[in-house]
Parts: sequence; C-alpha cells; structure tokens
Amino acid sequence: MSSFNSLDRATVWDHMCQTPYDLLVIGGGITGAGIALDAASRGLRTCLVERQDFAAGTSSRSTKLIHGGLRYLKQLEVKLVAEVGRERATLHRLARHLVVAEKMLLPLVRGGTYGKAATSFGLWVYDVLAQVKGDDQRRMLSREATLAQEPLLRPEGLLGGGLYAEYRTDDARLTIEVLKTAARYQADCLNYAQVTDFVYENGQLVGAQVRDLLGEATATLRARQIVSAAGPWVDELRQADRSLKGKRLHLTKGVHIVVPHERLPLRQPAYFDVPDGRMIFAIPRGRTTYIGTTDTDYSGSKEHPLTSREDVAYLLEATNNLFPTAQLVWADVESSWAGLRPLIHEDGKSASELSRKDEIFISPSGLISIAGGKLTGYRKMAQRVVQVVARRLRATTGQAVAPGSTRRIVLNGGEFTSQQDLDAFAARIAAALQARDLTHPYYAWYLVHTYGRQAQQIVEAMSGNNEAALVLAECAFACKHEMVQRLVDFFVRRTGRLYFDIGSVHRHRMAVTAYMARHLGWSPDRTATETALLDQALHEAAHFDPQLVAATHH
Ligand code: FAD
Repeated sequence: MSSFNSLDRATVWDHMCQTPYDLLVIGGGITGAGIALDAASRGLRTCLVERQDFAAGTSSRSTKLIHGGLRYLKQLEVKLVAEVGRERATLHRLARHLVVAEKMLLPLVRGGTYGKAATSFGLWVYDVLAQVKGDDQRRMLSREATLAQEPLLRPEGLLGGGLYAEYRTDDARLTIEVLKTAARYQADCLNYAQVTDFVYENGQLVGAQVRDLLGEATATLRARQIVSAAGPWVDELRQADRSLKGKRLHLTKGVHIVVPHERLPLRQPAYFDVPDGRMIFAIPRGRTTYIGTTDTDYSGSKEHPLTSREDVAYLLEATNNLFPTAQLVWADVESSWAGLRPLIHEDGKSASELSRKDEIFISPSGLISIAGGKLTGYRKMAQRVVQVVARRLRATTGQAVAPGSTRRIVLNGGEFTSQQDLDAFAARIAAALQARDLTHPYYAWYLVHTYGRQAQQIVEAMSGNNEAALVLAECAFACKHEMVQRLVDFFVRRTGRLYFDIGSVHRHRMAVTAYMARHLGWSPDRTATETALLDQALHEAAHFDPQLVAATHH
C-alpha cells in the first residue's frame, strides 16, 4: 500500500501493521529515504517511519549544497572528497532540476584561510578528485577580475579569487522525491509515526513499537532487519536498544539567515572567510540570498533548534565585513533556520574539526545504526547500509538480494534527458504561466526547480490566473502526491516558502488552511492547532529573542 496521498494515511498504517517486512527504516530524512529507495529497488519489502514530517530533522535545515567538500581537502580527507565529488555528477543526472550546477566564488583575502598558490593547487586537486571536466574546471581570477565578477566585495585586502564548480539543491525536496521514488518500488512510508521501543525474540530484534502520532494508535511493526537512520536521534534509539556504548554523537548547531536578494544582490554563490577563522556561504536563491552557517556545540531540544540573536549577529557581521556596501541590518533578516549536525564524537577535537564521515554501528541485537555523513553522500551511504542488510538477510534466512542499481534510478520529477531538455521544459512552463498572467520569471524558475516535470501538472490544475491559484494548485498536488499532514509540512518542506518567500505564506495561509481543512476533514480544533503551529514556525523563523520563542511553545 505505497501511497503518498494524504487521504490514504490510515490505510497505509493498517497495511503496515499487518505486513511482515524484510526491512524497517527508522527516520525519514535523506539518509533513511536513500536506504528505503536502495532496498525497495533491490526487491526487499521495505517500510519507513518518520516521527515528524519527512525531512523535518536535519534534512530540511542544511546549506542545501551538493558539494565536493572543499573543507575536507583541508582536513586531508582525500577519499571523502573524491567520493562525494564524483557523486555530485551522478545526482545531477538523476535529478537535473534539483541538483543544479553553480559556480562558487572563493574570494582570497589577506590573512584568509587560503593563499593564492595553495588555492589554485587545492582547487585543481579538487577538480581532479571529483573528475570535473571542461568549462566546469576551476578558474583563478586576478584581483581586478574578482572585483568585476563580484562588485560587492570589499576591495581592501582582496588578493584575487577562485571560481569552482558546486551544485545547489533543496534538501527537503530531494528527500521527498527520493521517498516518492521508493514508493514506486512499493516501499511503504509514513510520517508522524514514531518508534518508541523495540521487540526482541531470543535477544534479536524482530520488530518495533510504533506510535501513530496523528491517529493516536500504537502497533508493532515486524521486520527481519531494522536500520536506524535517525540523524541527531540515533543515540536515543541505541539507548532504547541498550547498546549505546563506545562512540557517541556530538551535536552542533548551524544557522542560516535569509535576506531579500536586493539587499545582498550577489551574482553567484560565495564561500568566504570570517574574521574568527571559519568560512561561511552566501547563496543567492530566487527572491533571496541566504547566509550560513554557524557551528556551535548544542545540547537543547532536538525538535526545535532555534536561531539566537548571537547567531544572527555573527552572520550579519561576517557578511558586512566582506560586502561592506550591503550594510545588512537586523530588519533585513526575513527568515532563518537552525539545523543540527549529527557528528561522531572524537576526544580532543573541536566541533569544526570533527569529521563529517558516516559510520555504521551494529548492536548485539542486530540494530543497524547509521550516523554522521552528508546530504551529498546519501546514495552511497544507502548502498553501504543495504549491503550490510543484504549480508545479514543472507546469513539468517538464506535470502539472496539483488545488487544495488540506484545509479540508474532517475528521481521522481527528474525525467530530463539533458540540460537542453530541462531548459525547453522551463520555457514551456514560463509561457504557460505568462498566459495565466504570472509574468515574473521567478514563478517558472521556482516551479521547475521545486517540482521538475511535475510542474506541468500543477500549472494545468490552476483554477485562476493569479498567485493564489498557483499556491492552491501546489497544495492540491501536495495533498494528493506528497503526504502533507500539516500546514507547516506544506509551507516549510514541500515548497520552502517559509524560508525563501515568506511573504507568500502570509498572503496565502488563509486560503491554504481552508483548502486543507476541507480536503483533509479537519475539525475546528485541529484547524486551530495547525494554525498555531504555523504561527509558531513563522515566529521562530524571524524572531530571535530566545525568551520570546520559548513562550510560544506553551
Ligand atoms: P535527519 O534529516 O535528521 O533525519 C533523521 C530523522 O529521523 C528525523 O527526521 C527524525 O524525526 C527521525 N526520527 C528520529 N527518531 C525517530 C523515531 N524514534 N521514530 C521515527 N523517526 C525518528 N550536507 C551536505 O551534503 N551539503 C550541505 O550543504 C550541508 N549543509 C549542512 C548545514 C547544516 C547547518 C547542517 C546541520 C548539516 C548540513 N549538511 C550538509 C549535512 C546534512 O544535512 C545531514 O548529513 C543530513 O541531512 C542528515 O540526514 P539524516 O537523514 O541522517 O538525518
């Protein structure tokens, strides 16, 4: 019963409770999604449960880059750079609309992290390891050429720059499309379903207690193998399994702030030095430019990491330091998000020094936990985990499992044969939107990069010629094909509007609430709850006084 129709939720739940699975995946972030797709496409009966919305953990809160990881080169993690570097090109091929090539500018400043010769060499090594070819290869720029490339840069202290290949994505959209693709291979996936405990026979895991957080029911899901891809929550589940020994997670918080593009009208993304020795990104995206990230040790609520005043001050100061004419002020910050890096603790290392490598832990009862890692490496991580699952299935039941094939599985919405094919499609969407009086190029850009081929369906479903009709057509699509259960699922993770077009949330929230309440049969109480949760999300994104935010949680 693989359905992403929001109305089918109860049926999916009933089906899951009655089905014996080969594999239960805990966690619907990018790691769990990747594992579900890899396993289901090898023919394993697979189910996945997520306690919040899909991607509501770290996988909607990253810098949204599919990157080769220049900083890992500095840490001499050559194998990691090579693997994720090459992986970028694969992901681009599987979802051209979602993994988009961009040139990143690395300004070189006096006293900065990278010198000119070292940068030239480093970027060259990076290109070789990542097998970057042709026009995409790094280009070193003189001081004058760097200023011409990005006139907002502070001229004093500027030595030159490097331009190199990176890919931009939308982490939450990537996660949902991977999950929808897994559902095509019959994986059963459910959001708002939490694993609360494990079930054992003879000391070995045979299932998990799961609570349906929307239906208030509890059931046992049975599976031969269980993988925990719970991100920052991995240790909680290891604790429930009584196997939390040895290495542990170390959580650090990373914040991004969003300003209107006209307030920081960068021509391309930039990766630049901060006076404290760290480096941060500023990335233009549609109507906005976003800036991040911070990196601080964290021990607060895992569901609600919040942006603090210090985080905002740090990012504003760092940006104004390099782009002095922008003079960004607090009032420019229209949205923000905070995410938690689930890093693996190493004695004596600071947060920024900890490796971003992933690791698999297997407990005596058979709980397979995957921790650490990157958005960029999700497909490879999934392959490794499912190989472990396959080995264990073969050993315990003799079941043979097919080799992985996700290199060839184009993601939902990504059915484009080439860049030209994508461009031609985008032109058709722009023309269709113009015919509906949505003439600003942003609309077509947004639709195509959010939904890929599915943009066509959304435009065709519009019942009027204005932005409201577009948003409602998106909402109808999200209800039918993307398992939205809450207003925030739609505004934050399916559309990214709360981060990158927050004004549109204010403009259309009433109409969307009315649509979802009618379509999903919400009671007045439920509608009030959903409204309050959206209010809270809007508040948290744009208000940075911790006490004010804490007050809204009660
Ligand atoms: P998550 O996305 O957190 O998913 C785990 C899920 O498990 C959660 O949704 C949670 O609700 C669920 N869960 C937990 N417990 C249970 C339970 N008991 N039952 C059911 N479900 C449960 N990587 C890149 O490649 N590029 C970047 O640009 C980048 N930037 C980053 C910037 C920041 C600030 C941060 C914090 C990370 C960044 N990363 C980046 C890393 C990347 O975002 C993460 O590695 C990745 O998103 C982790 O995904 P995950 O699925 O492992 O964890």
